[in-house]
Amino acid sequence: MIPVSALPLNTTPAWRIALREALREPAELLALLGLDAHAVGAHPPADTGFRMLVPRGYVARMRPGDPHDPLLLQVLPQARELLDIPGYVADPVGDLSAEVAPGVLHKYHGRVLLVSTGACAIHCRYCFRRHFPYAESNPSGGHWQDALSYLRAHPEVEELILSGGDPLVLDDAKLGALVRALADIPHLRRLRLHTRLPVVLPERIDSTLLDWIRGSRLRIICVIHANHANELDANVAQALSRLHAAGAHLLNQSVLLKGVNDSSSALDDLSQRLFECRVLPYYLHLLDPVAGAAHFHVDDATALRIMQSLRARLPGYLVPKLVREQAGKPSKTPVFSHEEP
Ligand SMILES: *Cc1c(COP(=O)(O)O)cnc(C)c1O
Ligand code: SF4
Repeated sequence: MIPVSALPLNTTPAWRIALREALREPAELLALLGLDAHAVGAHPPADTGFRMLVPRGYVARMRPGDPHDPLLLQVLPQARELLDIPGYVADPVGDLSAEVAPGVLHKYHGRVLLVSTGACAIHCRYCFRRHFPYAESNPSGGHWQDALSYLRAHPEVEELILSGGDPLVLDDAKLGALVRALADIPHLRRLRLHTRLPVVLPERIDSTLLDWIRGSRLRIICVIHANHANELDANVAQALSRLHAAGAHLLNQSVLLKGVNDSSSALDDLSQRLFECRVLPYYLHLLDPVAGAAHFHVDDATALRIMQSLRARLPGYLVPKLVREQAGKPSKTPVFSHEEP
């Protein structure tokens, strides 16, 4: 037998290295794309508490020289984020009042959401958790025991949702231990991962990750987050196909974003491309009114027009459900018009 001390040290996985090398300076991003900071309304990173973060592989999918690129707009800090717009607040979805233990949100029947880390591999400018006090509500800071105790004491909970931040930013050792502890809770049937990593850092879907997904007793659902077909390149398609082969059910949620995907043709392309990647569209969220994101707002009437046109173009299974999140409601709130059939 080889003594443990003689085993090679774990090497850093490729995805960690890619994450370390992600871009953090708007000036560097704009230079790569051949764009002028002034012309695109970028502002220096010192101006915001939510600094830029974007993996190089994601930048490679942007169109050089295009200030309106739908991927660029999702990640570039802009001066208009600093405007104080009435109605746009720090905690728009009432997360903090749904906390039953640090980082544990129990809003809806049968499913509990665990904010497993505050970190992400990308900083989306429209993110509704951009002001979430992760430092105080972070169960991986030693409080997973509280979350597990809560779940054990609530037999009506069948599904645990790992969210964040992005749960796949955690190491497989940490994640594997958590998933095993979850699988030991007999009434849990499903484990859902809300993650943007397969899209923004497809390297993350490596064999270590696939091994614990394949090995779990729990049904695994991956809800990825793509907003535009251009995000789904060949590397992403391959990562998704490996997740699918490992037995994960794949769904997508998007946010309806002005300038990014606010047309039926953009959403049609997205649904078609998702399906090619074995993913079904799930939710299309109206933007949560989070401070700093007002410039992404699409009004309800426009959103409904887009949905009507999308339904006329696509089979039903490729049409996402348009929803909004309202504090205190028992589910996401479907958004529809009264004139519709
Ligand atoms: C969105 C959300 C869920 C999941 O809702 P589904 O409709 O099942 O996708 C669960 N818990 C919280 C706190 C949420 O915000
Ligand atoms: S990956 Fe998700 S949680 Fe992270 S910044 Fe983007 S939208 Fe927010």
